[in-house]
Formats: sequence, C-alpha cells, structure tokens
Amino acid sequence: MSAANPPMLPLTGLGYDVHPFVAGRPLILGGVEIPSPRGLDGHSDADVLCHAIADALLGAVGEKDIGFHFPNTDPSLRGISSLELLRRVMVVLSRHHARLVNVDSTLVAEAPKINPHVEAMRARLSEVLGISPARIGIKATTNERMGFVGREEGIAALAVATVLIPDQISPL
Ligand code: MG
Repeated sequence: MSAANPPMLPLTGLGYDVHPFVAGRPLILGGVEIPSPRGLDGHSDADVLCHAIADALLGAVGEKDIGFHFPNTDPSLRGISSLELLRRVMVVLSRHHARLVNVDSTLVAEAPKINPHVEAMRARLSEVLGISPARIGIKATTNERMGFVGREEGIAALAVATVLIPDQISPL
C-alpha cells in the first residue's frame, strides 16, 4: 500500500445540543422553518439539529466543539444560518481529508410535530453535507412529558456522524 493511497479509517463523532424556546423568533430545524408559535433562543438562528450535527462532524475528526469554532461572543455570527455554520464545518473536514459517510440524528421535542418536515430537512442538509438524503437520518421523539423538554421549555438534538479519513498512523 503506497503512502499516497493509505487505507481509510472510519471514525465516528457524537453531538448533543439544546436550546430554549423563546417568543418572537422563527423555529428553524435542519435548515427548515417549521410553523410554530415560538422559536428557539440563541446567538445564531438556534438550529439545534444543525448544531448537534456540527459537533458530531467536528468530533469525528478530533476537532474542538462548535462553541470553539463559532463563539457566541462573535458579533459576525449573530443570527447566522446554522446551515452556513455546517458549510464551514465541512471546510474543516476537508482540511482533515475526511469524507463524510453518514449522519444520524434524533430531535427530542414535545411540540410541534417534526415528522411532516423531516424530508425537507434531509434535502436541505444533503445540499450542505454533500451526501445523499438516504444517508441522513432524522428521527423525532417526545420526552414523554418528562423534564425540560417534557415541559416544552426547549428542544434537544443528538447526532452521530461517520467519516472516512486517511489512516496516517499505520500507512503500511
Ligand atoms: Mg447550539
């Protein structure tokens, strides 16, 4: 095996995020605006799903988290689309010569209903992540009325991402 064609190592990253509901903002999940009387609070558009996916991608290549790369003290990021943050994360992945294989995720929300919007989210994320919608899992569950999600105080999201990366450690 030549060093120019090293074996590819599969690496997986994990992401978790949560944002509180707030009045007067649109609800953006997976880059799609969802009809809702309330949105999520945050420095960016507060797209909790994109943030969890971003942390999964960064974790897969051993990078620090989304808050390090895009601090909420940066005024240039105020109100920014989290799809743009994901685009920037994909640039970070390209610096690691990482090829994204798949993403899976779960949204945890008591309301509104997520499932009618999942296909639109997958399509939007597919454009940014450069993989087929078939390789982007988006599932939704409630928290069975328990805890902060159960009280409809906010929405949580979990994600995993797997990348293939040149195995520089054992190129033989
Ligand atoms: Mg966040």
